[in-house]
Amino acid sequence: MMATFNPVTPELLEKLRNVVGDKYVKTDEDYLTAYQTDEEGNSIYFRKPEVVVFPGSTEEVAAIVKLANEYLVPLTPRSAGSGVACGAIPIYHGIVVELERMNKILKFDADNMYATCQTGVLTGDLQAEARKHNLLYAGDPSSAESCQIGGNVANNAGGNKAVKYGTTRHQIYSLKVVTPTGDIVTLGARLQKCSTGLCLEQLLAGSEGILGIITEVTVKLRPLPPYSFNMVCVFKSDEEAFALPNRILKAGIDPTSIEFMDNEALQLTCKFLDMKMPHVDDGCDYVIVTVESFNEDDSDRKMEQLCDLAEANGSIDEFEADARIWKLRKQFAEAARSVDKMFQTEDFVVPLDKIPDITKQLPELRRKYDLYCVTVAHIGDGNIHVLPLNNKGLSPEEWFNKIKAFHHDLFPRVYALGGKMSGEHGIGFKKLEEFEACTPEGELKMIRAIKKALDPNDIMNPGKLVNVG
Ligand SMILES: Cc1cc2nc3c(=O)[nH]c(=O)nc-3n(C[C@H](O)[C@H](O)[C@H](O)COP(=O)(O)OP(=O)(O)OC[C@H]3O[C@@H](n4cnc5c(N)ncnc54)[C@H](O)[C@@H]3O)c2cc1C
Repeated sequence: MMATFNPVTPELLEKLRNVVGDKYVKTDEDYLTAYQTDEEGNSIYFRKPEVVVFPGSTEEVAAIVKLANEYLVPLTPRSAGSGVACGAIPIYHGIVVELERMNKILKFDADNMYATCQTGVLTGDLQAEARKHNLLYAGDPSSAESCQIGGNVANNAGGNKAVKYGTTRHQIYSLKVVTPTGDIVTLGARLQKCSTGLCLEQLLAGSEGILGIITEVTVKLRPLPPYSFNMVCVFKSDEEAFALPNRILKAGIDPTSIEFMDNEALQLTCKFLDMKMPHVDDGCDYVIVTVESFNEDDSDRKMEQLCDLAEANGSIDEFEADARIWKLRKQFAEAARSVDKMFQTEDFVVPLDKIPDITKQLPELRRKYDLYCVTVAHIGDGNIHVLPLNNKGLSPEEWFNKIKAFHHDLFPRVYALGGKMSGEHGIGFKKLEEFEACTPEGELKMIRAIKKALDPNDIMNPGKLVNVG
């Protein structure tokens, strides 16, 4: 059901200017066009806001939210707009709240290993600041150089270190949040354990902007392991590669990450980066394993153990790669975009032992829907990114319909194996219909009840994750 809201009026614009200042309220066509999408390339999803506001403080965010309630105008929180689920697209137009000005690390306590950041701090900047102090901020989406910490929390971003350290939600001590009715609350605390009340900071993590606007995040920092290696294990068959992660974890090697790139993904990215890598021309896949350690002997021992294990599981070669291997892995999405601006990133996640069960169904699905796909995976998390590429030049509408049909076939298979449709990108607007179709009614009822209780006017990122009904 479509929600109905009021349009942004000159009176409301004037009040917004009074809150943030004239130059931080944008209604020029250039801005409205720039904010009609996030990373989404299919124009069928684009919607323009009526105004983009750039608050500079939590108090300004709260005042904007109060105005949105008073005038019954929808709000879309936005950080860097690197999301791939149409989460930051203003489906019902209204106000986009762009948080990029709130970009300061407010406190960095190296001795006690935590930092408090404003929402707009670039994830890569926080990682770099931590490294300066021999510390690690363990959230590491491939988009770290462009995404922001608040956006990471809102999407519970995963990325490349989740095998060892978990996703963004596992890096959080506490959050400062503006609720959908404009109250300012601090949720969580800098504690190692807590059984006091509900764990509301974790409810906000992954809530995709529908339960409030995160304005500050206090994160955990960890000691930076001084030793690490990246081992590339080369496989001729997908099945052998997909069976490896579970065995690595069982062997106690304690990897930081286990990533997969199929041969098509390797070919595409090597070509894009003009890079030559071993065995890519022979049609092989890579499993890239990173292990960090505090002890050099332990690191050497794990490297040997890993090679033995990979060989016993069908790897035809193993080689140690320097950090450039991560350039290859992280630039993959850009390589895909160079072929197709509308590229679609699947993000389903299954239990580790079910990876072979779902991946062996993919060739049949590709044939059935006549899809050219490349695949990378955070395979150590069971999180598979299959990217169908529109290499036949279908129109936005034809491509949209093809992907919808593919989803309606794919997701029930994922759920039948105990999986879910998103491991890290979220539901946003893009998969809302599929989420509602695959999720049990009792769970949907709970989500809608929470949303309605916190956001009685449904003004906070409406039309994302669930329809309130
Ligand atoms: C090249 C590339 C690689 C990527 N790799 C990864 C990866 O490895 N792992 C991964 O998880 N994701 C990845 N992503 C997806 C994306 O970068 C992440 O989802 C990221 O967390 C989004 O952050 P952002 O700052 O861009 O948020 P945005 O895109 O601006 O917003 C994302 C969602 O959060 C909401 N939101 C934003 N800020 C706030 C806030 N302060 N309070 C409340 N709600 C808010 C928005 O309304 C929207 O629903 C990748 C994207 C690209 C383009």
